[in-house]
Amino acid sequence: MEIFWVVLIIQGIVFGGFCSFIASQKNRDTASWFFLGLFFSLIAVLALIAIPKDNSPDQPNLNRVCPFCAEQIKEKAKVCRFCQNDLPEPDVEQSLEPENNDEFIERENRIVKHLQKKLNREPTEKEIEKAKWDGIEL
Ligand SMILES: [Zn+2]
Repeated sequence: MEIFWVVLIIQGIVFGGFCSFIASQKNRDTASWFFLGLFFSLIAVLALIAIPKDNSPDQPNLNRVCPFCAEQIKEKAKVCRFCQNDLPEPDVEQSLEPENNDEFIERENRIVKHLQKKLNREPTEKEIEKAKWDGIEL
């Protein structure tokens, strides 16, 4: 009779371990699936195979592609989890929109005009640079 229990326990642990392994592959709770496998063995394995992979809790927003390795990564990731490369901020591309560029050029034009008036001649690169850094009021 003793051997029966030993076999049952070993079988339960084997199925439990197998279930928790599949559960981890499917992003399911490994601990509870270990116990389900322990008690229900083959039934739990079949049930686990039947259920779909759960992507919702741990991996939201997998809608960016790493520019270095082309793997799918989270939108707000700063470092790629596959290649460990530093990633550019998701907003960087948006902040370089043409309208901001226009504003920048317009400001530079205003500075040049301001200097032309003030100096009565074409301002040099250096003078324009200096005026930009000084943050002159226009
Ligand atoms: Zn990567």
